[in-house]
Amino acid sequence: MIQRTGVTAGAAALAAAGLSTPATAAPVTQAPDFLPLPEHAKPFPIPAEGYRLEPVGDNGYVVSAGVAQGYFFVTRAGVVMLDAPVAVAEFLPLAVKRVTDKQVTHVILTHDHDDHIAGATKFPDAKFVSHEMTAELLRIYTDPDRPVPDVTFSGKHHRLTVGGERFELIYPGANHEHGNIIVYLPRQKIAMMSDVVAPGWAPYLHYGNADHIPGILKAMDAVLELDFEIFLGGHTYRIGDRHDVEICRAFFVDQWNWTVQAMKDIPLDLSVVEAGNLWAAQAVWFNRIADHVTPRLVKKYGKELAAVDAFTHDNVKAIIVSSFTDDPNIPADALK
Ligand SMILES: [Zn+2]
Repeated sequence: MIQRTGVTAGAAALAAAGLSTPATAAPVTQAPDFLPLPEHAKPFPIPAEGYRLEPVGDNGYVVSAGVAQGYFFVTRAGVVMLDAPVAVAEFLPLAVKRVTDKQVTHVILTHDHDDHIAGATKFPDAKFVSHEMTAELLRIYTDPDRPVPDVTFSGKHHRLTVGGERFELIYPGANHEHGNIIVYLPRQKIAMMSDVVAPGWAPYLHYGNADHIPGILKAMDAVLELDFEIFLGGHTYRIGDRHDVEICRAFFVDQWNWTVQAMKDIPLDLSVVEAGNLWAAQAVWFNRIADHVTPRLVKKYGKELAAVDAFTHDNVKAIIVSSFTDDPNIPADALK
């Protein structure tokens, strides 16, 4: 069993956002300058309860604290939770009680990542639902805070209907994580997917420890095929929409295309390091490519997407490795 570090991804992201500081953090003498947050990407004040409760759709709610968001929908037969993030775990039962006497009957686990689901045990009587690949990973972890789901499905689609509300669970293939699914509520035109699009923000470091970076593009395209108006992304401060998915897709395509082009234009120079030290030569090459691509992305997207200058340099390097280790054959049509 793994040991939890005590600093969740959400808390780490919060700390990075300057919203909280871990007690053990070393003093920072000089922070680098970063672009200001666009207005639409700024945090909201957190009420005295310690979390925000915001309606979404006609029977849904967003529970948020910092950059973590959990969601629940009240149906005639009970409450369906979409993820149960650690950062809001203690607030979720309180939030449900504020709006309904109904019990939480289902928790849909979008993927196995701790920060999104390790609060699910707050609802021990609910059925946990996930893709089989998520269950497979949870069986490996044997983490008491992430129990193996009761209901799993394999393949690309599973329909869960609770109290008249349809939840279409769609698996677009490996993406941010194996097993990471879209949850689609067709009646309400709401699409939810964790960690593929952070509304209003540039991608997190290494696309959030992504399993399969090209699959992130496929996942965004699978979302965009749906008839939706509201997009819920699992992180950042506000509710998203179709435009948020479209601009993150455009950013991904530019980042991929410009990186692959720079790999052709900038030669790998073995003469700058000791003979035979190919890793050092590649480290120099990776940085040269990232130095070339990052400013272009910052210039094009820096006013519209938050924090483009935070992780893009690292993510260009992740794309270099992905382009020669993952399936590099993203169809040309998809890269437009
Ligand atoms: Zn994740």
